[in-house]
Amino acid sequence: MDKKDDIQSQFLKLKEEFETYQNFAESTIQMMNEKNTQLEKKLDSLTNIVEVSKYINSNVSADNLITMINDMIIGILGVIYSSICLIDKATNHLIVKATNIKSCKLDFENDEFFKSLNNEQPFVLNCKDSIFLGCNSKANIHSAIGVPVYLRDEFRGYIIVEHTLFNFFSHDHITFISAIANQIAIALENNFLYNQVKESSIRDPLMGIYNRKYFFEFLEKKLLQKRKKEFAIVMMDIDNFKRFNDSYGHQFGDKVLISVVNILKDGMEDMDCLARYGGEEIVIYISKAYNHGEVFNRIEEIRKRICENIVEYDGNKKSISASFGISYYPQNGNTVQKVLSVADSMLYEAKNSGRNKVVTI
Ligand code: GH3
Ligand code: MG
Ligand code: MG
Repeated sequence: MDKKDDIQSQFLKLKEEFETYQNFAESTIQMMNEKNTQLEKKLDSLTNIVEVSKYINSNVSADNLITMINDMIIGILGVIYSSICLIDKATNHLIVKATNIKSCKLDFENDEFFKSLNNEQPFVLNCKDSIFLGCNSKANIHSAIGVPVYLRDEFRGYIIVEHTLFNFFSHDHITFISAIANQIAIALENNFLYNQVKESSIRDPLMGIYNRKYFFEFLEKKLLQKRKKEFAIVMMDIDNFKRFNDSYGHQFGDKVLISVVNILKDGMEDMDCLARYGGEEIVIYISKAYNHGEVFNRIEEIRKRICENIVEYDGNKKSISASFGISYYPQNGNTVQKVLSVADSMLYEAKNSGRNKVVTI
């Protein structure tokens, strides 16, 4: 072999080695790229989850929170339909809280598909035929997943997403929806606690009606409205209640108060507002007040029902009476304070002229 041939064979060997390394490098780069894409996808998905959680936490008191979460699921996953169904505490039935399905309701009680589901468990459905038959207005759905919402082991509902493509959903979709389901559960709990705190700050714990602070804010808002409507204010105070407490005990007194409040509630209309003014004094906002005679008759009716009402405690049967003062906005004053002070003067007159009376200006 001459020198030239030797160089040629060395060159070919090196070329072959180079090509092997080049192939190896290329396949490694491709693998790294794929891994990178997967990681980016995972990062995207995590970022989405974090963003959704932040959003849920900052909108915990929003009435349309569930609808907003549902819209986010549609936007992020690119699904055709998404629905969030939650257990209604009063009926213990699943009801649709948010969906983008326009004219076809998910019917958990009667739909054969839902009845056949292993309830409260996650499900993945793929079907060459349309999954949801009998729903003409709906796109032909070939894949669907359902993820249950659990709050401390208690089943609270389902997130159901649907797509027209067969086998559309991957494991990542399920992971994402499960994370959202957890967030929904936390949001439900936070929302419940938020409403509880809010309610307790505006309601009287014994009577269950609004407190004085809420009543003033309510009236101030009414007076800030552009088109102010005439209204009546009624002040009520139980007659000789101190004597009642002294004779029969505070607990019997509390029971009497609650029964008086129930009679008042019965006599209220939708737009009226009932609040504890202080002690056993109750104040009422009457929204339909253009006919003063009618307002007087309504309150007179309530007065009669209170003094005819028999309250029983520890084998003792007693009845009490109450006095009422009525004033009107704007006739008796253009501020909350003025209208209230006229109602208070009317109540004072009712007390001074023998009690168990309704006095109006
Ligand atoms: P009047 O007819 O002049 O109103 O006589 P009264 O004894 O009712 O006098 P007043 O309205 O000043 O008395 C308020 C009494 O109401 C004092 C207190 O014993 C009682 N009271 C106030 N809040 C409560 C309550 O939450 N529970 C009970 N049991 N009694 C209450
Ligand atoms: Mg009293
Ligand atoms: Mg009083």
